Parts: sequence; C-alpha cells; structure tokens
Amino acid sequence: MMAHHQNIKQYDVIVIGGGHAGVEAAAASARMGATTMLLTHRPETVGIMSCNPAVGGLGKGHLVKELDAFDGVMPQAIDRACIQYRMLNASKGPAVRGPRAQADRKLYRNAIQDILHKQENLSIVKGAVEDFIMDGDFVQGVITGCGQSYKAKKVVLTAGTFLNGLIHRGQETTPAGRVGDDACYGLPKTLSSIGFKLGRLKTGTPARLDGRTIDWNKCQEQKGDETLIPFSSMNDEITVPQISCYITHTNEKTHKIIRDNLKKSSMYSGNIEGIGPRYCPSVEDKIVRFADKDRHQIFLEPEGLDDHTVYPNGISNSLPVDVQIEFLRTIEGLENVEIIEPAYAIEYDYIDPRELKPTLETHKIKNLYLAGQINGTTGYEEAGVLGLVAGINAAIQATEVNKGEDFVLDRSNSYTGVMIDDLTTQGVSEPYRVFTSRAEYRLRLRADNADQRLCPIAENLGCLSPERLSQWQDKFQHLQKARNLVKSLECTPNELEKYGISINKDGRRRTAHDLLGLSHIRYEDLCTIWNELKTLRPDIREQIEIDALYSAYLLRQDEDIKSFKRDENLKIPDEIDYMKISGLSTEMKQRLTASKPATLGAASRLQGITPAAIMAVLQYIKKHKNVA
Ligand code: FAD
Repeated sequence: MMAHHQNIKQYDVIVIGGGHAGVEAAAASARMGATTMLLTHRPETVGIMSCNPAVGGLGKGHLVKELDAFDGVMPQAIDRACIQYRMLNASKGPAVRGPRAQADRKLYRNAIQDILHKQENLSIVKGAVEDFIMDGDFVQGVITGCGQSYKAKKVVLTAGTFLNGLIHRGQETTPAGRVGDDACYGLPKTLSSIGFKLGRLKTGTPARLDGRTIDWNKCQEQKGDETLIPFSSMNDEITVPQISCYITHTNEKTHKIIRDNLKKSSMYSGNIEGIGPRYCPSVEDKIVRFADKDRHQIFLEPEGLDDHTVYPNGISNSLPVDVQIEFLRTIEGLENVEIIEPAYAIEYDYIDPRELKPTLETHKIKNLYLAGQINGTTGYEEAGVLGLVAGINAAIQATEVNKGEDFVLDRSNSYTGVMIDDLTTQGVSEPYRVFTSRAEYRLRLRADNADQRLCPIAENLGCLSPERLSQWQDKFQHLQKARNLVKSLECTPNELEKYGISINKDGRRRTAHDLLGLSHIRYEDLCTIWNELKTLRPDIREQIEIDALYSAYLLRQDEDIKSFKRDENLKIPDEIDYMKISGLSTEMKQRLTASKPATLGAASRLQGITPAAIMAVLQYIKKHKNVA
C-alpha cells in the first residue's frame, strides 16, 4: 500500500511479533543502538511458550549457547526459570551433548518481559499489523488494524503461526494464531500480492493435564542432573528449586482407541493440507507409522512450581476432545485424568525461505526481514537465532554501524549458519528443526565453545552489553594464558614414570597439552606434576581438556574439508546402496536412490540433500573403495 502519512512516529527498526524470534530480533537491534519498536498483538503474552515448557536439547542447546555468545535474551531467561536441568547425551562426546532445561512457564515469561523492559532503545507497543507502507519495492513502515501508521528504516516480520492460522480439533476448525489469539489475515494478502511463494505447514500440541488427577505413584520418576550449568555466561548458578518429571507409556488399548477414531482426527480425515514435523510426530502419526510398536513413551512435565498444569510430552494430536479423554484414561497413572486444555493441531502459512538472503532480508522487498516460524522452521531456539540474525542485520543497515557490512554466519562457524544456509538454499518441505547431524563440521560447532566461535564477531558488531563484553574478555585472557601454559609444560616418559604415569618410552618430550590428548591420562594426574594446573578456573580447565581431546580429530576434520572440496566431482558408483549409509535420513536415502546422481556434485544439488549428507556419502565411498 502507498501511503503519505505525516507526523507519524519513526523508528530505525520495527519488529512485528513478540514470539521468540521477535524478542531476540528486537533486543539485538536495540543492543546495537538502533531505536526499536516491538509491535505485537498482546504485549502481556511476550515470552509465552506456546508448546512445550522447555528450552535446549540436542542441537537446540547449541543454538541457545550461540544466542548467549551474542548476549541474547533466551539464555538469561531460561536460567531464571529452569526447574529441571539435564545434559542430554552426557555419556557421549562434548560435540553432541545437548543442555536442556525445563521451564516454569510463568517465571520464563516474567524473565523475558523484565529483560526487555530494562533494554534501552526498545519500546513495546500493542497493535496488529495489517499492512506495510511501501514505496515501490521498499518497505517503509507498517499500518495496524486500527489504522495507526509507524515508519521505520527496516521492518522485521516474525508472525509465527499467525498467518492464516487455523486450529483443528477433530472436525472443528477455528481461525486462530494459537489458542486464545486471533489469526492474522491482512498481511498474508499483502505478502502473496508481493509475489512471495507461500506454503502451508502444520504443527500440534498435546492436551494440558491437571496434575492433581494423575496417580504419580504409577509413573516412573525422572530426576534432573545434580550439576546445573547455566545457559548464560553471566550467571554462575541456577537458584530455582528443581523438580522431577515422570514417565509413563501408551499401550495396546490406547492404540486401539486412536486407530478406531483415526477418521475423526483432523489430520487423517483430510482436513489439514499442511505438512507437519516428521521429527515431532503426533500420536496418530506414531501409531500409523510405527504400527509394530506396542507402546510409546510419554514424559509428564510439570509446567511450574506453583502450577498444577502438566505437559504430556509425546502425545500431540488433533482428535475430538471426547476421544482425547478416552485414550488418555487408558494410560497408566492417567486413569482419572482431567484435561485443562485439549490438544490441537494448527495450520499456517509460511514463506519459502529461498525468498531470503543469508541476512534474512527478502530478495523481493528491500528493508524487509523475516525471522522465526514464518521461515518454515519449528522451535523456540530456531526462531530465536533467526530473530537475532535478522535484528542485527536490520540494525546494521538502519544505523550504518559495522560500516554497513552485512552480518552473515556460515556453516563452519555456527549451527545458526548451517540452518540459514539449509533454509535459503534448499527451502523446506516440512517444519525445519536443527539436528547435530545437519552440521558437517560438528566437532568445531560445540555448545561448549560457542563463545569462542562467536563472541569475537559479536564484539566487533557492538552487540554485547558492557558486562557481557568484559566477562568474555576476561575469559578469553584466561583461556589464552592456560593454552600457552599447557603447551609450555613439558616432560619426558622417564620423568612421567616417577609420578606413576606410563607412556611409550620413546624419549620424546611431550607437553601437558599432548599428554591430555592421551585417553589414559587425566587432568588430575598432571596436577601432581605441575602445581600451576591446579589454579585454572573450572570452565577454563574444561576447555583445555576438550582442546586436547579433540586436537587430532580437528586436524583430520580440516583435511576432510579440503578433501571434500577436491572430491566434489567424484563419480558415485552405480551399485552404491544408500540404505546402508548411516547419517542419512530415510527421506534422503529414498531421494538419492530414486535420482541416482552420477557425481557427488550432482547429489549435493538435489533438494533436501544437505552438505552433512554428502559428507556421509563421501566417507562411505572412501571406506568401501571396492564399490567405487
Ligand atoms: P510465535 O511464537 O508464534 O510468535 C508470533 C508473534 O507474532 C506473536 O506474539 C503474535 O502475537 C505476533 N503477531 C503475529 N502476527 C502479528 C501481526 N500481524 N501484528 C502484530 N503481531 C503479530 N516447536 C517445537 O519445537 N516443538 C513442538 O512440539 C512445537 N509445537 C507447537 C505447537 C503449537 C500449537 C504451536 C503454536 C507451536 C509449536 N511449536 C513447537 C513451535 C514453536 O512454538 C514456534 O516455532 C516458536 O514459538 C516460533 O516463534 P516465532 O517467534 O516465530 O512465532
């Protein structure tokens, strides 16, 4: 819409939407010094978690640490709301460990709002954006449903599931952005008239249960970890009281009820055309797709310290309410359960992310950035990092800091970079979520070194608060000193023997760094030789240990990168059996098998085949040279 409004408020950056993407976009833009307005339907819902009350997990935990490297909001908020902390994959290597925190919903929302209200340069305003103020193919501001206009140099749209949102429960459908919120209709019209390619996706959420009607004794208790590691580098500890979760299972009776009522499910009666997340399947999906399984696990997660609402993780569905009650009550511990809010599925429009540059600005409309679920992703963390990247870029261009140079993360420095590259080059065919398997350089992209990978970039951009900056600079100095130290301390095998440490007697002097790389030598062993090692801070010591552990692998990974580039034109033998290659999803295996690409280069250009998959194919070919 063309508009010539006078005396209307002007901002550097307007962010539309107060979900997880909008929060990070607005806060990052304001941190960068841009005057920023966050415009959203209901400011009191900013920071709300629309689905599971948890942050982090495998891959997602990495994203939260990446947000922390830019002084993002989510890590600080979750530390104030964490009621159960677990390090997933704790028994595996540091690269694939995933910190996860279950949240008290109310504490989380309060923390987000508190952080935003204290943020300079940021105002939060109530309003529903219905249209853009345009000048040719430039966006210049927004117009709300009540006719209010606001001008901005840059606009970041983070409308989540609200574009033509439609809620499904059995045969009932209700237009809504999520339960309790109106959908948004003006903007989808504008967006499609601009010519953006829109698609339809869906997601679902389980019923919320009344914890007072659950027989907890019949469920298996699951405690959190004893050691709680804060997500935010600004926090030394998590002080929120910790609670237990409980585990129960579906059974044959549950499955029969669901199977018998599949026709009543919105998903299976053909009411929903959108595609859902395969990795977070509804319970109907689980029962149809994994028909041979006689039970599925359900985590019963309390939603707060003073709240009896329980989130049953693992049984989202779109069945009518009476069927929901019937199947729930077949489950052990839930025989008398009452529902507080029934499950539902929601269908919504998204914009094909191939419409976006790596800065998240759209190709078609200048000054317009898109972030969050509107880009075809799913998950708070995914939304959060997209918001961060869009907010920083909008602020750079609006204020010309960083000499106006774009901020682009890439596959070698972050999961955020991996995700944006996947989205913008391949588009999505289902809601996209991050996995460690999507990253080919995952030994480099660890949760524990997110600050080392990204804080220097954030520092250059001016995105860190003075406190965060000095925390990082202090840590960096300690790290450098410690790294120099472990490379300067040396010992021969004979000297080591005096301390009861035996290694190959080759007479070679080894540094403490070399020794820590040997699997049978522990840090404590070396402290008996070199007293100064005892003085290192625990977080620095952990890095020193991980550095040493990974150094050989990282060198090899660098070689992998080189050989990957060299071998891009490598021929793929006809007789290759993709089904045998681990690290490929079933969908990728099917697509590769069907297309039979002649070369690795051709395979990498197939839609849905990620660079991580190509790496897996390459490694497979090398390992099985007889087929090549
Ligand atoms: P949202 O959190 O949806 O926020 C959008 C914001 O934009 C809202 O504040 C809204 O009021 C505002 N807004 C929209 N349009 C306008 C407008 N025109 N003007 C002003 N403001 C506007 N993720 C998972 O990882 N696992 C799950 O199991 C899962 N299940 C889900 C189930 C449901 C029912 C829903 C709704 C989401 C689910 N998600 C799940 C996804 C997760 O909640 C989202 O990916 C994430 O919250 C998206 O964040 P966002 O900021 O992009 O959008």
